[in-house]
Amino acid sequence: MPYEGMIFRPPSEAESLIIQTTVGCSWNKCTFCSMYRYKDFRIKEYDEIRDDIEMAKMMYGDDVRRVFLADGDALVIDTDNLLKIIDTLNKDFPNLERVSTYATPHNLLNKGIDELKELKDRGLDLVYLGVETGDDNLLRSIGKGVRRDEMLEAGLNAKRAGIKLSVTIILGLGGKEGSKTHAEETARLLSDMDPDYVGALTLMVIPSTPLYNMVKSGRLTLLSPIESILECRRIIEDMDVTDCIFRSNHASNYLPLGGRLPQDKDKIIKTIDDIVKKNKTYLLRSEDMRAL
Ligand code: SF4
Repeated sequence: MPYEGMIFRPPSEAESLIIQTTVGCSWNKCTFCSMYRYKDFRIKEYDEIRDDIEMAKMMYGDDVRRVFLADGDALVIDTDNLLKIIDTLNKDFPNLERVSTYATPHNLLNKGIDELKELKDRGLDLVYLGVETGDDNLLRSIGKGVRRDEMLEAGLNAKRAGIKLSVTIILGLGGKEGSKTHAEETARLLSDMDPDYVGALTLMVIPSTPLYNMVKSGRLTLLSPIESILECRRIIEDMDVTDCIFRSNHASNYLPLGGRLPQDKDKIIKTIDDIVKKNKTYLLRSEDMRAL
């Protein structure tokens, strides 16, 4: 498929057909993020997208069951156009089971529940929302552009519309200085939002980002691998959710963990405690094996 620039997708979309509907991220201001820093944001014309879908139809035909709409926030596309794209996918791929996309909190707040419901009814099944943290001060400092209450409302909008909600959080985002508050407030926000999936990433410091300068100047002290998994432990322990798949299987993490919460909470915590108490650091991914 012809893509503009590097394409990113969640680990769970590894088997999906990726259709690039936007180039870059419409927000593009988060201080830790380098993914779309050098892409000028634009929404692709419907005709370009339709050509890509037609090419995919010729290549993969009936095999396409899942489609992920890239780049950073395809949900920014106005609802009528997005419905047209989803309708085209449904027409061309008769075995299509799931359409998903990244979303910013602004996208979910701007669409509102009626438009999100219409998108759900026509086939948008899942959105990935970068929550990053529940700490209001940290949300401000990383330039996320929303407060905690707005982030909560954004996630709840997706759920109220019946769209499955997968959120990401970033371990180590507050450094040693802010670790306790980051963990407590993130667990509190996740408990209030009650998402279907939580994916934990671990902070990667990328040289082209403002966050890199914070680390270099000593304003943010990075967590050690053990501190990072202990932060993860605190979040899992404090999270009070109904039925949520938790994963830390992203390549940035020191330790891949997974389970269904709340029932697997004790098992996950026991795994972390065993590693920490017996100092089994050989089980942790080494720094040079971590990746975005
Ligand atoms: S909204 Fe997401 S993709 Fe856009 S800058 Fe922030 S983290 Fe990066």
